[in-house]
Amino acid sequence: MNDEMNQLIDLQEIDVELAGFDREISEQQKEIDDRQLSIDEKKAAISNCREQVKELLEKKRTIEVENEDASARIKDRQNKMMQVQTSREHQALLKEIEENKRLVKESEEQLLTIMEKIEKTETEATELENLLSGEEELLAEETKNVAKKIKKIQNRRKKVAKKREQLAEELKAPLLKRYNMLLTKRSGLAVVNTVDGVCQGCFMTMPPQQYNEVRKGDKLQICPTCQRMLYYRTEESEEA
Ligand SMILES: [Zn+2]
Repeated sequence: MNDEMNQLIDLQEIDVELAGFDREISEQQKEIDDRQLSIDEKKAAISNCREQVKELLEKKRTIEVENEDASARIKDRQNKMMQVQTSREHQALLKEIEENKRLVKESEEQLLTIMEKIEKTETEATELENLLSGEEELLAEETKNVAKKIKKIQNRRKKVAKKREQLAEELKAPLLKRYNMLLTKRSGLAVVNTVDGVCQGCFMTMPPQQYNEVRKGDKLQICPTCQRMLYYRTEESEEA
């Protein structure tokens, strides 16, 4: 295999390593993002609970007023009972009293239901707040840890990136350009091995004649399907 091809293979190995560092970093970052997301969701749920409680309290106040009004009407009609003369007036007042008693009873039942709902919603909010404060503490801690881990990964990455820079300088500019373009277009894999005439980038079979050329390794060969640069290396030749 020619030197140029060997350099490309080395470059590809380094780029795979660099991509690995980048993946490690984004995985670390994702852990933090996931935790943050869970915190944001809880905050939204808490504020939703608080809003519900506010609405329930308003409703409660309205029903309390209705209840007070009905009670006042009962008292008023009861007082009037003493002054009425006819049985028809008496009957009418009795009917009103019954009607208002019914309203009082109804509103009391409604108030009970609302108070139960308020209590339930407040409990839910409190539980969520407890969870939230735990998660926030954990996130603060985890953020520090992750920052440290990322820093370490970046330090390792820097060394490898330096190696890449040196190696890239040794390559001819047009070849490097082509390699870089392929690396971007072909999700980080520009130079690939061939096994039994199959490109290990796209897993398509190449013509036998081209496979022979790839095995000889005299001239740069390009996969006819994915345009990746091809080489031929068996495990034994790698160890050699
Ligand atoms: Zn291919």
